[in-house]
Amino acid sequence: MALNVVMLGPPASGKGTQAVRLSKARRIPKISTGDILREAAQTGSELGLRAKALMDRGELLGDSEMIGIVKGRLARPDAVSGFILDGFPRTVPQARELDGMPQGESLVVVDLAVPDGELIRRMEGRRVCRTCAANAEPDEGSAAACSRCGGEMVTRADDGDADVRQHRLEVYARESKPLLDYYRGRATFRSINGAQSPDRVAAELMAEIDGMVPVNTRRAQ
Ligand code: AMP
Repeated sequence: MALNVVMLGPPASGKGTQAVRLSKARRIPKISTGDILREAAQTGSELGLRAKALMDRGELLGDSEMIGIVKGRLARPDAVSGFILDGFPRTVPQARELDGMPQGESLVVVDLAVPDGELIRRMEGRRVCRTCAANAEPDEGSAAACSRCGGEMVTRADDGDADVRQHRLEVYARESKPLLDYYRGRATFRSINGAQSPDRVAAELMAEIDGMVPVNTRRAQ
């Protein structure tokens, strides 16, 4: 039975960090739309350049473009036995589209709740690898080199500017927070206190996921 996880939460709530851990533990791919767009930006493709302009201002890309990207990614063979979506859906229309996909039948949805002040603090301190775009683990936040590929650790373009940080929180509140109401009534939705240590969040996340039987498995029993 595939484990199809959606990670919700504001920017810098720890979605990426937790998605990496879960991906290793369950051997299913982490699919981060932000990473996909940052990689496209590095290649200088038309999509990448357009995405970079929007990302640097803290704006979202259009729903239909994002849906196309995610559909293509979920169709790849490595996503058959499950996946962790980090950064998608970010709007209710994106969530509706995901529900309409075959993989949408058995979603486990986990929200990481973190107060705004803590999010700003994390964005200010966050470092990512210039080469492979990996986030630094919190305990290696000041390391000069990426533990994955040795690349240089830098501040993300959209983390460095106070106005853009604030704007991303506003965009989250307006576009993405309604997703909590969209998913809240489901048996496979959980909200976790993301302001705890990464180890603690990971432990709660794993326990919640272990405790949830995907809906269509339950139907089959
Ligand atoms: P993230 O790494 O998830 O914080 O995403 C970085 C940026 O990529 C966001 O601020 C948006 O500009 C863009 N982005 C990522 N995922 C989506 C999405 N599902 N819909 C629209 N824009 C997105």
